Amino acid sequence: MTLTPQEETFLRRAIELAAKSRASGDAPFGSLLVGPDGDVLAEAHNTVTSEGDIAAHPELKLARWAARELDPATAAATTMFTSCQPCDMCRGGIERSGLGRVVYALSNEQLAELKPGGGWPLVPQEGPALFEEARVPVEGFYR
Ligand SMILES: [Zn+2]
Repeated sequence: MTLTPQEETFLRRAIELAAKSRASGDAPFGSLLVGPDGDVLAEAHNTVTSEGDIAAHPELKLARWAARELDPATAAATTMFTSCQPCDMCRGGIERSGLGRVVYALSNEQLAELKPGGGWPLVPQEGPALFEEARVPVEGFYR
């Protein structure tokens, strides 16, 4: 895709954060949020190893930050620039965050070429079951 010079600058910052993450002993991924006025609102890098937290991807950390700190209109006008396309876990968080746009450098396919043996096993999910009991705490909550 074609980026504006300003978008290239932000995406290069995400790549720089990825390199710093690697240099500090974590996985090589970095992201930042750019608000409606073109200001950098927050930055993050992967801290899965240093924090012992499987969810410490920069995209998910920033999605949580945005949902907590930004009003809906600001979040919707905010762009996440990230060194790699968000994984499924992060995509779910981003979709719940209210953020308006994601621009990434490496695609998941490109990452897979650089990460032999990558990917995660599918975990079987079994259900549904006990509908009459399970519906009780949920029924009426969303009305
Ligand atoms: Zn992720």
